[in-house]
Amino acid sequence: MKSFDEYIELANQAHGHICAGQILGLRLAIHGCRLLGIDDPAGADRKRLVTFVEIDRCATDAITVVTGCRMGKRALKFRDYGKVAATFCDLSTDRSVRVVAKESSKQKARELFPHIADKNQQQMKAYREMPEADLFDHHWVKVALHPHDLPGFKGPRVSCARCGEGINFQREVLHAGETLCRACAGDSYYQVL
Ligand SMILES: [Zn+2]
Ligand SMILES: [Zn+2]
Repeated sequence: MKSFDEYIELANQAHGHICAGQILGLRLAIHGCRLLGIDDPAGADRKRLVTFVEIDRCATDAITVVTGCRMGKRALKFRDYGKVAATFCDLSTDRSVRVVAKESSKQKARELFPHIADKNQQQMKAYREMPEADLFDHHWVKVALHPHDLPGFKGPRVSCARCGEGINFQREVLHAGETLCRACAGDSYYQVL
């Protein structure tokens, strides 16, 4: 693993600024990797890890910096739970750990550095220094990872019987005898104007 200062620099570049959420995300990901015994997640161990993130905020960008897990590599999965939490799955040992930021961490930051008025500054300093046990809870979990969800999966590409668009990774659904994309099957996030 890199030094914390190196991670901060990388996170700054990736995210555009350094903030309390980034510090928390870096710590959270380092904690998760350590629990799994993964020393070089973004380097030598880069094929071992799949990460599920549960929020689309600052912390998530920092988690990708430490883990090297990216959407485009299929190693980063997003579940929109609105929680500062992530699950780290070690493909080589089939072990997974979910790490969640404690609700009490903000209050702890206030108690530690009451003289720092700026909340972001206060939390940045506190999240850097607080012991992991004060920042996070974790539990070992079982994650159902299917071969078609994993990096490197190669499978047939099919076309939707309605819109004709190509569908990868077995995301098609069988609907009244037709092979459809999720949008045409009714699970669409957009409406065509
Ligand atoms: Zn931020
Ligand atoms: Zn379709």
